Amino acid sequence: MSGDERLGKYRGKRDFGTTSEPRGDTVRHGDAPCFVVQIHDARRMHFDFRLEVDGVLKSWAVPKGPSAEPKDKRLAVPTEDHPLEYRDFEGVIPKGEYGGGTVIVWDEGTYRPLSHDRRGHAVPFGDSIERGHATFWLEGSKLHGEYALTRFHGGRDSTEPEAWLLIKAKEKTGTVHDRTGRSRAPAAPGAGAPDPRRARSVRTGRTLQQVAESAADGDGRG
Ligand code: MN
Repeated sequence: MSGDERLGKYRGKRDFGTTSEPRGDTVRHGDAPCFVVQIHDARRMHFDFRLEVDGVLKSWAVPKGPSAEPKDKRLAVPTEDHPLEYRDFEGVIPKGEYGGGTVIVWDEGTYRPLSHDRRGHAVPFGDSIERGHATFWLEGSKLHGEYALTRFHGGRDSTEPEAWLLIKAKEKTGTVHDRTGRSRAPAAPGAGAPDPRRARSVRTGRTLQQVAESAADGDGRG
């Protein structure tokens, strides 16, 4: 499926004459695939967790946000594929529009697919998502380490709505080594519960409220 076909649902929900969200016309040929976590102060506050897969951002709404604690199982509800440029979106979606409310980029970075089959062979990442279980290593400013997304309801031939869990993998030793060989201390207690109203944009350091205020000042995307 081309990016254009994949984004049909996304575009159908939005009026691009009104919202400043991207339509999604560019194609990226990058190195490592990217991820982004946005905080979206919509009708219900939630985090949007997005992974670049085959030219689009596969997306899940995570009401409580991702946790750095392996004991936390975070509900993740799939939403429509978003264009890659959406990772740059920070601003206000007008009231009355789909998803109306303020968005900040809470974390971003690259990820490394880790999905394997039972014999230990690497599986194309898009396939692992289709099958309902994907593992990956995040290298963000806030999130580091191995995570898994697992579908536990719906999907395949089911007509039920899909529900997934986003869970941090248990660390094998006391410290984690990322790709550059630097070691990191394990996440501090409490690292699992970002408060969305106090959280700051990884891009601009602003809170949701500050982004909303600058938009209200006629500053547009601020
Ligand atoms: Mn959202």
